[in-house]
Amino acid sequence: MPLELDLGPAAQAFRTELREWLEVNKPKELIGVSADQLARGGQVKGASEWAKKLTEAGYMCVSWPKEYGGRGLTGVEVAVLNEEFARAQVPRITRGMGEWLVGPSIIVWGTDEQKKRFLPRIIDGTDRYCQGFSEPDAGSDLAALKTRGIIDGEEVVITGQKVWTSGATEANMMFCLARTDQDVPKHQGISYVLTPMFKEDGSSNGVELRPIKQPHGGSHFTETFLTDTRAPVANIIGGMNNGWRVTMTTLGNERGGHATTQHVEYTKQFWEGVELLKAKGVTNDPTIRQNLAWAFSHVEIMRFQGLKLLSEVMARKEPGPAASINKMFWSEYAQKFTAFMMNARGAESMLIEDDRDGKYVADRWTSSFFQHRSSTIWGGTAQVQRNIVGERVLGLPKEPDPNKPRPAAG
Ligand SMILES: Cc1cc2nc3c(=O)[nH]c(=O)nc-3n(C[C@H](O)[C@H](O)[C@H](O)COP(=O)(O)OP(=O)(O)OC[C@H]3O[C@@H](n4cnc5c(N)ncnc54)[C@H](O)[C@@H]3O)c2cc1C
Repeated sequence: MPLELDLGPAAQAFRTELREWLEVNKPKELIGVSADQLARGGQVKGASEWAKKLTEAGYMCVSWPKEYGGRGLTGVEVAVLNEEFARAQVPRITRGMGEWLVGPSIIVWGTDEQKKRFLPRIIDGTDRYCQGFSEPDAGSDLAALKTRGIIDGEEVVITGQKVWTSGATEANMMFCLARTDQDVPKHQGISYVLTPMFKEDGSSNGVELRPIKQPHGGSHFTETFLTDTRAPVANIIGGMNNGWRVTMTTLGNERGGHATTQHVEYTKQFWEGVELLKAKGVTNDPTIRQNLAWAFSHVEIMRFQGLKLLSEVMARKEPGPAASINKMFWSEYAQKFTAFMMNARGAESMLIEDDRDGKYVADRWTSSFFQHRSSTIWGGTAQVQRNIVGERVLGLPKEPDPNKPRPAAG
């Protein structure tokens, strides 16, 4: 039972146009396949043709301004777009981190030349980005990163270790943070470098990926070792040593970029859950009903919260610290809802070992439960989001610095 928002005549006209286009063009072989399945499931028949068709019709990077090859859709129109793809039951393919994270950061911080060079390559799928931020000793405290960038003529030479690099094995570019000045306070000496992972002859650009095995048997992220990895100085976004400012834009988008549209996926998941539990004959159980009522109200709150954030994004052109409220809310909701579904399904949720290759077979509900264990970690942990909301949204005092002298006891 997908939700349809009433968002005024302009959005309604866009809805009608898109609905008609999808009716004519939607690929039969992808009906019922979710974008998430495509992102995680490797090659799916018809997916690359569908991506090409969406690109040609201008349905890729839709929220980017028209002058940069996007469609200039407002947040409201993007919400409509997601609802219509969900209604047509076909995946809305996107350009992943290129579209959501690095592209918008280039739009805010890049030079005209950088915009011309990098943005079209994201739209047409030539460049597929992964995020080289976290390191073994720099996660929540990201500015503690140690990867070095040494300037050598027109190039920056990067050496260090990244970790948890999602999608690295499918990427050819990394937006990488490197310390290009060792002698200034930690937030000031960082540069944001668009780093090619391969040389022109196809050999590795000093990048070694070591996949990290996950409980379900897949490896969606890697340890990433950079040894004398070279990138043109012209690939530094936002200027030398100004990478922290660019990073804030990227992280704002990671935390709040989907806020206006997220409820669509969760509404769909909620009603699928209801149908499944109905079929099991358990929806008369008062505990189940109470949990479903809790979930429904949370998805609705997510929708209203998304619309609230939308006005902020429209005013500032990028999500501010309030995006952290969104990240905190949906990630904790998704964890609780998928755990509830595991319990409500009972024995069906158990993992069965697949004799053929020693892997565990996890259906989509069980996979989703596992996957959401990480949702309160990536993009900034739930605790870090609470710090941001406390200090930067509510204006509460900062955490005391343990290294400063304490006031005398009263
Ligand atoms: C599925 C997944 C995908 C990821 N993909 C990427 C990626 O593509 N690229 C990338 O660069 N990184 C990626 N990450 C890494 C992610 O950004 C980090 O895991 C995250 O920032 C937390 O850092 P950490 O793991 O080092 O934990 P730590 O920072 O060591 O935190 C450990 C614990 O301490 C708590 N804590 C830390 N500081 C504070 C504080 N000041 N106040 C209160 N509590 C605090 C944390 O909340 C946490 O519970 C991914 C992580 C996951 C799980």
